[in-house]
Amino acid sequence: MYFDKAETYSREDIEKVQLVRLQSTIERARNSRLYRDRLSGVSASDIRSIDDVRRLPFTTKDDLRGSYPDGLLTVPHEDFVRLHVSSGTTGNPTAVYYTQNDLNSWADLMARCMHMIGIRPGDTFQNMSGYGLFTGGLGVHYGAERLGCLTIPSGAGNTSRQIKLMQDFRTSAIHIIPSYALYFAEALEKRGIDPKTDLNVRVALIGAEPHTEETRRKIEDSLGIKAYNSYGLSEMNGPGVAFECEHQDGMHVWEDAYIVEIINPETLEPVKEGEVGEIVMTTLLREGMPIIRYRTRDLCRFIPGTCACGRQHRRLDRIKGRADDMMILKGVNIYPMQIEQVLMAMPEVGQNYLIELDNDGHIDYMRVRVEVKGEFFIEDMRALNALQKRIQTSLRNEILITPKVELVEANSLPKSEGKAKRVQDLRSVY
Ligand code: AMP
Ligand code: ZN
Repeated sequence: MYFDKAETYSREDIEKVQLVRLQSTIERARNSRLYRDRLSGVSASDIRSIDDVRRLPFTTKDDLRGSYPDGLLTVPHEDFVRLHVSSGTTGNPTAVYYTQNDLNSWADLMARCMHMIGIRPGDTFQNMSGYGLFTGGLGVHYGAERLGCLTIPSGAGNTSRQIKLMQDFRTSAIHIIPSYALYFAEALEKRGIDPKTDLNVRVALIGAEPHTEETRRKIEDSLGIKAYNSYGLSEMNGPGVAFECEHQDGMHVWEDAYIVEIINPETLEPVKEGEVGEIVMTTLLREGMPIIRYRTRDLCRFIPGTCACGRQHRRLDRIKGRADDMMILKGVNIYPMQIEQVLMAMPEVGQNYLIELDNDGHIDYMRVRVEVKGEFFIEDMRALNALQKRIQTSLRNEILITPKVELVEANSLPKSEGKAKRVQDLRSVY
């Protein structure tokens, strides 16, 4: 039933393992240039319980960039076998190095996730995620092989070839980012392929970018599969950090491998149980490049209580967005996911949308460009106008300001390779 003994740990077991691993992580981290000074005031004996992690300094994205390319390494160069560079949208990227042991423990964690949702040897697993520097490619790939699946490294895009592979090799499980999954479902429909009868896929890992429950349902319904949310970030290896079990009620974060805190990003104090804050993570298994109290900028909360599956590893709720994604318009804070939630609950809405922030010379405003499914994008102007008004009203109810809404034809908005870019800020800066 379990891939790994750690899945059966009680809270007490988890905390015991965490404490021992935290102490050794601190000692290892001291060997890096970044942590040598930072940790000079702390000794492992100061860490008597897991709460003492709060005595350690935070590590930020800027620290990683400032130490680029190799300021966090704790062992000699020749001990490393892999390097990923994170998709930094601004400034220096961040480099993440892995030793062979690091790759092995990462693959184990990933295999644990996939096993949890019923993927087994005998499954054919198509990894429809970008390969290369993006950790979603090789990270999931090695997990699938570790689990014993026949693994097809199909990569992202090239939809016709994806479909052919699925048909020829009876693919039963896939990994796909949510924005591509929506597009893929539409592409099947266009080709007259009904995934429920013509394909063999039953389960998908979806993640790598924020998405709503409405989007998950849309993916599940249109592909006739179960889709499980997968969370990870390059700084913490990549995918395999937290993952949903069969109950689809939050993502179990593997606490034998990470210490997770949720803090108020302003006061830096822990939030109250169940409140939303910034995820802060400490690696416990990483040998070559341990990271202590990393401020992820991801906003989330722990789901209180324990899961019906019995696993005691705490559950992260759906990622609400990144602190960096928050838009401020007319003094109102708005997250892209609030908009997605409204749009994806509407059957007429297609697979893509774009939020534009603009200024007409006097005031800022928001324009939401929404793709409408072919069968609804008809010549009947009255019906389209009514739909446009309906979307506008629902958005206003959610975000408290009235955006302009522009309906566009399916597949007319720019599609990004890899993670979707949902917001464009066109406001001129004075
Ligand atoms: P990268 O390290 O460049 O692959 O990006 C990692 C970031 O992707 C995370 O910090 C999150 O902001 C985002 N991300 C990854 N998985 C998810 C998920 N399941 N839901 C929402 N956001 C995610
Ligand atoms: Zn569970």
